[in-house]
Amino acid sequence: MDQTKQEEDYGYDLFPERKPRTKKLTLAQSLFTFNHKCQVMLNFAMETSPYAKLLLSAMKNSGCQAFKDRHFSCEDCDGTVSGGFDAASSQIVLCQNNVHQQAHMNRVVTHELIHAFDHCRAKVDWFNNYRHLACSEIRAANLSGDCSFTNELTRFNFGLKEHHQECVRGRALRSILAVRKISREEAEKIVDEVFDSCFNDHAPFGRIPHSRKEAKFANRDYANRDRYYANL
Ligand SMILES: [Zn+2]
Repeated sequence: MDQTKQEEDYGYDLFPERKPRTKKLTLAQSLFTFNHKCQVMLNFAMETSPYAKLLLSAMKNSGCQAFKDRHFSCEDCDGTVSGGFDAASSQIVLCQNNVHQQAHMNRVVTHELIHAFDHCRAKVDWFNNYRHLACSEIRAANLSGDCSFTNELTRFNFGLKEHHQECVRGRALRSILAVRKISREEAEKIVDEVFDSCFNDHAPFGRIPHSRKEAKFANRDYANRDRYYANL
């Protein structure tokens, strides 16, 4: 090592925190922080959200146990997307740059787990059959709490009893249009064709969990159902 190089180093290699900060380092650090925060919130969702817990046990019982390290990935995403399910790799993507609150994380994890559950239990043709995609989007919007009263309340959309259905329909439409290049008319037609049967398919919840409390009850019922089968 030549003398100049050695002098320039000033031994900072031993104390990385004391290195003069560059723009690049700051960016890397902020990414690390986002990623770390995303992992922490994901852990918390998997361990405490009754929605996520029920879906995770249902997947395990269907032979598709989801592992945090293998089936979830915190990444930066474009635009305002919060998450996605990559059917090709069976991975749930969580958008670390767009999800900053625990309640939001819980909903995204739940929404994507419903897609993962559908992927596991049925032979879903995500890429060629738009009705399959539409059905899973309807179920995800209906059962994840995306359209629950408090979420709608904060969006100033409360009022009608049928509003839940309208919210589910609208969200399913937006999700399809975000990922597939089809016209709005075409998407509306497909959603309306499958709406009733998919809206009424509440598996694995058994009912629409409109609140955390209802999801807790559903989770307890599910666990008991499980125990009953286990004793047969
Ligand atoms: Zn979705």
